[in-house]
Amino acid sequence: MPSTSGRTDAVLGDLAPEDVRVRFSPSPTGNPHVGLVRTALFNWAFARHYGGTFVLRIEDTDVTRDSEESYLALLEAFQWLGLNWDEGPEKGGDYGPYRQSLRYDIYTDVVRRLMDAGYAYHCYCSQEELDQRRQAARAAGRPSGYDGHWRALTLDQFAAFKAKGREPVVRFRMPDRSISFVDLVRGELTFDAENVSDYVLVRANGHSLYPLVNPVDDAMMDITHVLRGEDLLSSTPRQVPLHEALREIGVASGPLPRFGHLPFVLGEGNRKLSKRDPQSSLRLYRDRGFLPEGIVNYLALLGWSIGGDREFFSLDEMVEAFDITRVNPNPARFDLKKAEAINGMWLRRLDPDDLATRMVPYLQAGGVPPENPSDEPLPPLKAAAPLVQERMVALDESVGMLGLLFVDEPEMDEAAAAQALTPAALSALDEAFKALVDLGEWTTPAIEEALRSSLIDGLGLKPRVAFGPIRVAVSGRRVSPPLFESLELLGRERTLARLDAAIARVTG
Ligand code: GLU
Repeated sequence: MPSTSGRTDAVLGDLAPEDVRVRFSPSPTGNPHVGLVRTALFNWAFARHYGGTFVLRIEDTDVTRDSEESYLALLEAFQWLGLNWDEGPEKGGDYGPYRQSLRYDIYTDVVRRLMDAGYAYHCYCSQEELDQRRQAARAAGRPSGYDGHWRALTLDQFAAFKAKGREPVVRFRMPDRSISFVDLVRGELTFDAENVSDYVLVRANGHSLYPLVNPVDDAMMDITHVLRGEDLLSSTPRQVPLHEALREIGVASGPLPRFGHLPFVLGEGNRKLSKRDPQSSLRLYRDRGFLPEGIVNYLALLGWSIGGDREFFSLDEMVEAFDITRVNPNPARFDLKKAEAINGMWLRRLDPDDLATRMVPYLQAGGVPPENPSDEPLPPLKAAAPLVQERMVALDESVGMLGLLFVDEPEMDEAAAAQALTPAALSALDEAFKALVDLGEWTTPAIEEALRSSLIDGLGLKPRVAFGPIRVAVSGRRVSPPLFESLELLGRERTLARLDAAIARVTG
């Protein structure tokens, strides 16, 4: 629910909450990464908080880097995450098309109108000339951006270039004044005119560039708030006067969008998490068996807080509480351990049967059960899932934690075996075998009672010394699900066979 506090007024101005329109505008290059998802999530939560519109727009104007595969991966990822869009590809809407590659005619027309009205001009500088002038400006201690050389191109000069077949770029004419705007995350920002030079809208080959097409679409799609990463902060002082010009020439009529720049996300070593860092890939977390709820919950914490120390919350709760002015402008650190901890909390929330079902593909991908002991993996898995639900952080741990139940012989961790399956462990293993071989009923309490009375009471061993070797014998690992429960699920025959094999290993 929108609040009517002063803070919110800074966000909405005179706008009715339901008129909020935000966009998420990814370029389809590579795999979706966590920084991109965080930006999408904040836009989505902002739109949902006000009951406004979330637009998905695909910025596919870079033919050398964009791919259809990446475009499809984006759509699929957002569907999986539950970040549904109201307008965009597959969905349509009144402001389409929503792929920039389908909008070139629009951009050509807008550029013509900007040129006619004097907001843009042809520039014939070659790269060499630009470099020379930049060096000269540096040497003279002047700002080194474009110096507006062709702002006053005469008709004769134009004709001469044309006769030589030279093609110009189109530059936007920046106003000769500083540019200020209120950033919803960072407060009022001012950029001096001399640091923001006339920039290229269209290449000499006629190709419209991001600095043109992004604000044109924001203006034409009536976007009210532009929430994006801090890496784009330097483009905003260029875009503000372009937005003003677009309104002057009638391309758009509404107020300028308000801007908010979300903090950088830092990875290892406090370096900015880059697309190329493997840990930034959304696919990695999906493959590891993170739940969408866990991922969005964690990403929500990268720069925002629901209040107090609270870190576990649902998308609905985030929507309810989301306030862009409470985003912290300082860089946020991506903390894998925390992401895992939060995902673990979401796993614990699952109904155990649901957890079991979700584990199946992970078990199968890990080759478990290679030869399925029963034809139905689910009944024992359903009984086993609650044993590990408390300690899992991602579904890809299924094999490590429960695989022992579904294979004929556990894969032995040799380091664990070398440490636990020693001659000193022989008596514990022997006694365990004897205690279990004739056990009346094969239940967790009966197994526990039998092992405790023979090993702890009978042999006088400490629990760790008594049960450590049994754990390694039956699971092949030092860490396993709770021991007595595991033995029950494993069954008498397999338990005894594994104890036997461990005894043979020690004595052999
Ligand atoms: N397509 C741009 C990008 O992926 C979006 C820029 C923006 O949000 O303004 O970086």
